[in-house]
Amino acid sequence: MISEITVESLMSLMDAGNGRSDLDRGQLLLAWGYREESWKTLSSLPLGARARRLLELRRAFFGDQLTLSARCPNCGAPFEFATNIGEILAADLQEKEPTSQIAVGTAILEVRPLNAHDLTLLPSSITAEAARKSLASRCLVTVFDEDGREINMPEMQSLQSDWVDAVDNLLQEQDPLSALIYCLDCLDCHKAWRAQFDITDLLWQELEVENAIVIEEIHLLAAHYGWREADIVAIPPVRRRSYAQHLRERTQNG
Ligand SMILES: [Zn+2]
Repeated sequence: MISEITVESLMSLMDAGNGRSDLDRGQLLLAWGYREESWKTLSSLPLGARARRLLELRRAFFGDQLTLSARCPNCGAPFEFATNIGEILAADLQEKEPTSQIAVGTAILEVRPLNAHDLTLLPSSITAEAARKSLASRCLVTVFDEDGREINMPEMQSLQSDWVDAVDNLLQEQDPLSALIYCLDCLDCHKAWRAQFDITDLLWQELEVENAIVIEEIHLLAAHYGWREADIVAIPPVRRRSYAQHLRERTQNG
């Protein structure tokens, strides 16, 4: 269940996430939005389940409509399109098995979904290719031969590239919400590309804007009426917003 959001908790969230990585911010957002659940449960969620909760949190706070923006990687033209959260979540309604299998040559690979903990274990200086290999190796649970007998798991270093590709594709299929990917076509230069969007980043930016508005409101009310921050924060949000609006209009009208 999504927790009740207060102005104090929003301000503390922004303080806690200041200068932190996207992964840490995602975890902070989950702990903030789903206070009944333990930190450990939230950090071990598969990436798709994590994205689902962040999308639901975003919908509870800012509504279902979502505008995504990107830049063409070829000519830099700006790109903006509207989608909605209900539609994104609908892509992922089927019940999930904890693991799934894929055949590569004569081997059958059994794979579990990625979670945020897997990502935190990656060294920060790792190349994209090495990261793909390391994550594929973490998610590979068991390997069977063509007769269904379990065979020895290869070391991460000796993982074949066709296995890495197969695991990678399966992870996407198994957990479609783990990455929000759209295939876009540039209207200016006709380049086609796959744009990836990060719900943590989107939601964090929106909350930063909201937080900045709240701080401006506190400033206006404190400066004009001499009220204390704690008292202003305790005013119901709709009333606080109309006080601030009233003060802004008075200033504009001179
Ligand atoms: Zn372009």
